[in-house]
Amino acid sequence: MIRTGIGFDIHRFARGRPLVLGGVRIESDRGLAGHSDADVICHAAADALLGAMADGDIGSHFPDTDPAWKNADSLGLLRRVAARVRALGGSIGNVDCMVLAEVPRLAPHIPAMRSNMARAMGIAPGRVSVKATTLEGLGALGRRAGIAAQAVATVEVRARSGAAGKRRKTPALA
Ligand code: MG
Repeated sequence: MIRTGIGFDIHRFARGRPLVLGGVRIESDRGLAGHSDADVICHAAADALLGAMADGDIGSHFPDTDPAWKNADSLGLLRRVAARVRALGGSIGNVDCMVLAEVPRLAPHIPAMRSNMARAMGIAPGRVSVKATTLEGLGALGRRAGIAAQAVATVEVRARSGAAGKRRKTPALA
């Protein structure tokens, strides 16, 4: 069975914060505000994976009230979510991310983002797409208030088969 999930995230720009997108630290005079490293692309991708498994969202798994996730590396968060997908019997098919950012120019960083995210999820870079668009100056994002990202993921969930002893529990799919 192929399952599909959707993810969305948005963070405001903040001075004095590093800008981390797809696990790449990008030279910028501003970063994104957030409890973790505020990596919107990793957050959207993680939510898409959790969505595909009907397993809540990153807010429920990694609450921003928990000091453990303060300034957390979101690639690590994505790695944990991918491990959870596998533990639930899922195999990640592909992840496609769309970044909405007026600034900075992201094109030069996209290969490194894909590589980072693929490694974190334990899949080939060819299964990870990161695309970026500006907002043509429209709306809050167009006025450079922050950056948003959307993601879609597919997960193949194996049909129950083989020896009963090898069956995996899939509580979230019940
Ligand atoms: Mg977030």
